[in-house]
Amino acid sequence: MSPSSLHTQIFENLPDAVILTDAEGFITAWNPAAERLFGYSSEEAIGKTPLIILEPATAPQLIGQIRMATRQHGQWQGIVCYRRKDGGGGVLQAISIPLYDEQGVFVGRLGIGRVPGGQEPVSPDLKAALFQLNAITETIPLGIFMTDPQGRCLYANPACQRITGMTFEETLNDGWAKAIHPDDREKVTESWSLASQCGAVFESEPRFVHRDGRTLHTRMCARQIMDGDRLLGYVATVEDITERKNAEALLREQTEQIRNFALRMAMQNEQLEASARKLENLAATDGLTELKNHRAFQKRLEMEALRTERYGAPLSLLLLDIDRFKEYNDTYGHPAGDHALKEVAGKLASFIRDTDFAARYGGEEFAIILPETENAGALALAERVRVAVSEIVHVLRPLTVSIGVATWSARACDRQSLITRADRALYAAKRAGGNCVVCLDQEETEAKQSLPPE
Ligand code: GH3
Ligand code: MG
Ligand code: MG
Repeated sequence: MSPSSLHTQIFENLPDAVILTDAEGFITAWNPAAERLFGYSSEEAIGKTPLIILEPATAPQLIGQIRMATRQHGQWQGIVCYRRKDGGGGVLQAISIPLYDEQGVFVGRLGIGRVPGGQEPVSPDLKAALFQLNAITETIPLGIFMTDPQGRCLYANPACQRITGMTFEETLNDGWAKAIHPDDREKVTESWSLASQCGAVFESEPRFVHRDGRTLHTRMCARQIMDGDRLLGYVATVEDITERKNAEALLREQTEQIRNFALRMAMQNEQLEASARKLENLAATDGLTELKNHRAFQKRLEMEALRTERYGAPLSLLLLDIDRFKEYNDTYGHPAGDHALKEVAGKLASFIRDTDFAARYGGEEFAIILPETENAGALALAERVRVAVSEIVHVLRPLTVSIGVATWSARACDRQSLITRADRALYAAKRAGGNCVVCLDQEETEAKQSLPPE
């Protein structure tokens, strides 16, 4: 009997299902036990792939496992969920052995399947667990793939295929790596091998380019599958985080826009405040002389009166009136009168300290508030002002002023009485012929002194 006839007889009579596939995975031989077990005749099965008898829910993962195992151990043994031609099915124990020719070239696989006998039934729990595991990996939205130690893909779940837009077959071997964005490939390769050298979990956020051209942001993790010290391969996950990344980018953009808007608002606010300050200043300024106006004078005097009331600080007030100014106007004209008013105002402004306050009281009258100034100081200043005005040269005839001085005291202990007292002093100065400084306090003291002793 020739060896081939012997082999044929063994093949025909073995109680186990025996299947041979070629290097491309197509069935080349199918024995009678396989016909009985799976319900396909030899003619029907030859030329197809073993997928015809694998439970669809478990097939891709199983193929990946077999490829990975056979690359490592030479053969694979395990449990297979099968499906018969008539729709029935079950679980069998299987062995898959890779076949090589004399030159060591892979030529196909030998598959042997045996339905567990009554002695060793496969537990329904195991079958259920296999189905559950497969249901999870096949339905989970997280991409899962397995590779051999060289990173060649052996299995990719449907979510992984959705992320890359590749079919199961296209994802295999280095197919998955081609889906990584070209600019991110090197980074992934480097950090993957670095993590692998350290036995750490590889984590990265590379971009993937989908078949349809879309760029997806993903989060990738991979870790080694070890058998003791031996590296069997890697299991990796890919999560599509495009929406999150886009939302983050949108949030960043909107935050930036809000920041810019707030900045613009702050600038506009500043401009508004500056305009408001300008307006406020304008409203408090006399248009002709550029000194503070009557309203600003009253406000300031009220504030100073409050301060004096509260802290007892000295406070004096000068009221000034240009002598015979009507005559000046009548002689030289109103514009010349305006010019003269400006000259006097300029002189007053140049005389006062920062803390003093000069204002146009009205018409040809002016006022100077002197905080922290006693009566003697106020009189001295008034005298200097009087002399300075009389020395103004840019006028058509010398100008003189009469000045009434009042200082906060028991007789002038509020804003109004301080003004009244200064006004009365001014009136007295006019009566005295003008071009002089008068303070009622002095006059009253002198008047008192001139009275005969009681
Ligand atoms: P006295 O010595 O008693 O103060 O006499 P006077 O002429 O200065 O006083 P009077 O109150 O009779 O006249 C004030 C003049 O001041 C009358 C008015 O034409 C003038 N005057 C008031 N405001 C202005 C102004 O804005 N410009 C000009 N050119 N003259 C003004
Ligand atoms: Mg007057
Ligand atoms: Mg006058």
